[in-house]
Amino acid sequence: MNPIYLDHNATTPLDERVRTEINRCFMEEIGNAGSPHGIGLRAKQTVHAARDRIARIVAARRHEVIFTSGATESNNLALLGLAQHGRRIGKLHIVSTKIEHKSIVEPLEVLAARGFEIALVPPKPDGTVTAEDVLAAVRDDTLLVTVMHVNNETGVRLPIGDIAEGLSDRREIFLHVDAAQGYGKVLEGLDHPRLDLISISSHKINGPAGVGALIARKRGSESVPLTPLMFGGGQELGLRPGTLPVALISGFGFAAELAANESAERLGYCRELREIAYQRLQPLSPTYHGDTENTLPHVICVSFPDWDADAIIESVDGIAAVSTGSACTSICASASHVLSAMKVPEDQLNGAVRISWSHMTPRQAFDESLQSMVTKLSSER
Ligand code: PMP
Repeated sequence: MNPIYLDHNATTPLDERVRTEINRCFMEEIGNAGSPHGIGLRAKQTVHAARDRIARIVAARRHEVIFTSGATESNNLALLGLAQHGRRIGKLHIVSTKIEHKSIVEPLEVLAARGFEIALVPPKPDGTVTAEDVLAAVRDDTLLVTVMHVNNETGVRLPIGDIAEGLSDRREIFLHVDAAQGYGKVLEGLDHPRLDLISISSHKINGPAGVGALIARKRGSESVPLTPLMFGGGQELGLRPGTLPVALISGFGFAAELAANESAERLGYCRELREIAYQRLQPLSPTYHGDTENTLPHVICVSFPDWDADAIIESVDGIAAVSTGSACTSICASASHVLSAMKVPEDQLNGAVRISWSHMTPRQAFDESLQSMVTKLSSER
């Protein structure tokens, strides 16, 4: 029996319907979306159709979608791309949180080394960050507030709508949201017109890897004053030059539309699987990290007494693919900065594994694999 894949927060399997669309594009959309002839224009129309599908979910418009290689690049473009404007207007203060993804953490470190001052708001022990704490960190010289939508390790949702409301009379401050984990899954919040910049990724919503977008909302006729990180070609309003991957973009657009249309049933199904997980894992005396009332229903972050995370992952490897907090954390082999910021005790911190699934996870195989995991771990304790 193949191990079941329970690491959907790292990446999701490609939806078969999306695969069909990608294959169609590879066969039929052979032109460059920047070329002036009919075949090029057809590719451009395919790209525009995807822009519309992607933009609609966050109440944005077609020309506000900048295609990138994924949310990592979108986050870099949002943060590093605003720095020049900040310097020009003498605003060098940025507010973020202590539970951001590394693709925010590291650009912020780069900006700190270049003279920016970064305020990092800590989470509560349940993994939530309050809008009040974020707003309290804002100063007169704040250029940017950047806060994630849903945490990748715990699945906890952050109060994006409340932060946006709180900044409604501070129009001079830019608001960026890393929505890699929530876009297409939680539909409310990201449509708030106060969100200036939103990073999203295709492979988290059963689309292809290698494509994502930065939504840069216009304020009337004014664009967010971003400076590109790369040059040459002029594509994507000059903000992200390079030939557009039409097939991947079309697959992303289709995956986004499917996610939005099927959101309610996907959430409901994931909730049912979460109930199964809670029941099955009970014999191992689990401690769950993150406010379970405020967490997306397809992920749990859990520690079991006397178990180290690496030992769990190795022990259950033939049964299920689970991981530590994030793929990046696994590579770095360092303790999760998210759980550390939540002040999770050290033994639980080192033992925390993330189990994540999606609407594509078969119920029976999920149930059986959790039972097998519990049997195996209990026998080895
Ligand atoms: N932000 C968050 C919250 C994520 O979970 C991820 C993916 N692990 C990223 C950004 C980076 O996304 P991508 O893989 O598309 O670069």
